[in-house]
Amino acid sequence: MDFEIIIIGGSYAGVAAATTLGRSLRKVLVIDGGKPCNRQTPHSHNFLTRDGETPAAIADKAKEQLASYKTVKTVTDFVIDGSKQPDGFKVLTQDGHTYTAQKLLFATGITDIMPQIMGFAECWGISAIHCPYCHGYEVHHQPTGILANGDMGFEIAKLISNWTDELTLFTNGASTLTTEQVQKIKTKNIKIAEGEVQSIIHENGQMKSVVMQGDQPYPLTAMYARLPFTQHSDLPKQLGCEFTEAGHIAVDGFNRTNVPGVYAAGDNVSPMRAVAVTVAGGVMAGAAINKDMIEEGF
Ligand SMILES: Cc1cc2nc3c(=O)[nH]c(=O)nc-3n(C[C@H](O)[C@H](O)[C@H](O)COP(=O)(O)OP(=O)(O)OC[C@H]3O[C@@H](n4cnc5c(N)ncnc54)[C@H](O)[C@@H]3O)c2cc1C
Repeated sequence: MDFEIIIIGGSYAGVAAATTLGRSLRKVLVIDGGKPCNRQTPHSHNFLTRDGETPAAIADKAKEQLASYKTVKTVTDFVIDGSKQPDGFKVLTQDGHTYTAQKLLFATGITDIMPQIMGFAECWGISAIHCPYCHGYEVHHQPTGILANGDMGFEIAKLISNWTDELTLFTNGASTLTTEQVQKIKTKNIKIAEGEVQSIIHENGQMKSVVMQGDQPYPLTAMYARLPFTQHSDLPKQLGCEFTEAGHIAVDGFNRTNVPGVYAAGDNVSPMRAVAVTVAGGVMAGAAINKDMIEEGF
């Protein structure tokens, strides 16, 4: 085996796990494609000591510190295939390299699927936002939209009403809210706009208004959206990992998947998408892998 552990994905979860494993004297390879989900966000918030920094600055500092652990090697490449071997795993990369290791950790994140609304993708992470704990403070008390329908729309409206009372729920088509939900929303002075959202007018990703079919444009500063997603990597599925109903890789409390020797951490296992949560998952996975290897060899 070339390495004890291969970590696929070297963003926050991957680097946190690699640091934990490097500090455990483990021989580790990190293979990272370099496409974290928050790369369009100008400022990342709510990670202690790094509040307001660029996502890249946070990751670069972590990678710089990881480089001091001599048993950890990092390469920029993309894993395109992998298979189970009698004593571990083999992976193949886009650049044509093969690597083997006893354990695999997926820190591969997820890919958000953008809605077919002109201007939305350009605003993603800037004024089209996924999470109030990351970006809600910056747009508090401002005219804000929510792009969601039904139970999800109701739950997000309830949550975001903590940050602003100038709130419009865009159901982007006929509402699927229940009568009780509509009544509750109205008592909280939250507007409901049922028309199809056609486009978002913005300047460099800063939202100005939302254009609806047959309606006046709605002036807005920000819009929350819980987007559908796919796993960034197909390999966990290929290796037989189980998934939750929501589409996350199913793991136990120590980030083990159902496939012996395969672990997962970060956004690919959790709906709570925040750098701090992801780093915690990476540290937990690293410690669990190290402990499992000690148990197997002691
Ligand atoms: C728009 C946006 C803004 C956000 N803002 C904030 C914020 O302000 N504060 C905050 O705390 N959180 C924020 N988050 C959440 C935070 O960015 C994520 O929780 C975090 O990036 C998840 O880290 P991760 O390591 O699991 O995945 P990612 O950071 O998405 O990284 C996954 C890495 O794996 C690599 N990869 C995937 N597949 C392969 C493969 N097959 N081979 C090699 N490499 C692979 C990718 O290239 C990528 O580098 C934001 C998220 C989004 C989407």
